Amino acid sequence: MRFKTVDLPYHVYIGEDVIQKLPKVLRSLDANYFLLLTDEIVKNLVVVGLKEMLSEFEYDLMLVESARMEEARRIVLRGGFADYDAVVGVGGGKVLDVSKVVASELNATLISIPTTASHDGIASPVASFKENGKPLSISTNPPSAVVADLNIIKNCPIRLLRSGYGDLVSNVSSVKDWQLARDLVGEDYNEVAASLAVMPAELMVTKADELDLTLPPHLQMLLRGLIMSGVAIAFVGSSRPASGAEHKFSHALDYLGYGNGTHGEQVALGTIIMEYLHEKHYGRGDWEQVKTSLEKVHAPTTAKEIGLTREQVVEALLLAMKLRKKRFTILEAVKPTKEEFELVLEKTGVA
Ligand SMILES: [Zn+2]
Repeated sequence: MRFKTVDLPYHVYIGEDVIQKLPKVLRSLDANYFLLLTDEIVKNLVVVGLKEMLSEFEYDLMLVESARMEEARRIVLRGGFADYDAVVGVGGGKVLDVSKVVASELNATLISIPTTASHDGIASPVASFKENGKPLSISTNPPSAVVADLNIIKNCPIRLLRSGYGDLVSNVSSVKDWQLARDLVGEDYNEVAASLAVMPAELMVTKADELDLTLPPHLQMLLRGLIMSGVAIAFVGSSRPASGAEHKFSHALDYLGYGNGTHGEQVALGTIIMEYLHEKHYGRGDWEQVKTSLEKVHAPTTAKEIGLTREQVVEALLLAMKLRKKRFTILEAVKPTKEEFELVLEKTGVA
């Protein structure tokens, strides 16, 4: 019998006031001396309040200023001789991405404490940076623990929660891409990882009618889904379960520097487009349901809402077809022409 070992988060807490579990988590991971990474705003809003709770531990606090490799290197150089047992990242995407790289470089356990829920990077083993305006993904170790306190996260801007919803919903089309790759080009497919990624996404799409992301039970569903996406990625050691053609489209927008959408908003638009193509060519998918669910949570469903023109969207779609061609998606399967993309944008009302 053959098994593969995978690193998955050992402790996952999602709920109101779960930050209280932090000392227990630290003790169980033998994190007696750790590096606490955060940024200026989160430090004042959250970290200052943790001081008493952390009084039994020894730690150094450093501020993350930008989401760049250079920043991670600066922190590694400063902390490199300290022999930390763990890195504790408290913050949004910027802080968590830098924390992942720093923990991997220092060979320390990572504890992820998200203060937003804007994408599935909360628990994934991938750090996303922008270098010279271009996107860059770095593989890291996954966090050993995720402590997602809803009382903290509910204070983040609602736009970020809607973005997180968009990133979760994108699994609906990314998993279809994976299945297409399995069926058409014989790619390895893992049912557990695919289910982890797609089931919470489908649940949220079908429940969109009643969703209010500011309510703790709904926010908890979102966090669960995003964390499970990250775990799915760690499970197969690839972003495959949560990143298909809709992510290529978003990366293309990043490369071109078009629009003002967040990652989640961009992939959500991409999901509507790719779902349409899946439905049209393979009879699977429901782009209208995806679009309606995004409208229900007040996430953007048109190019205009995130500062994009129709021409820019078409250009990004054509560029997306040239990106990461080894990742087989609906774009590689169908090879749509410019005219077909224009038709999709018109039919879906995206642009
Ligand atoms: Zn994503």
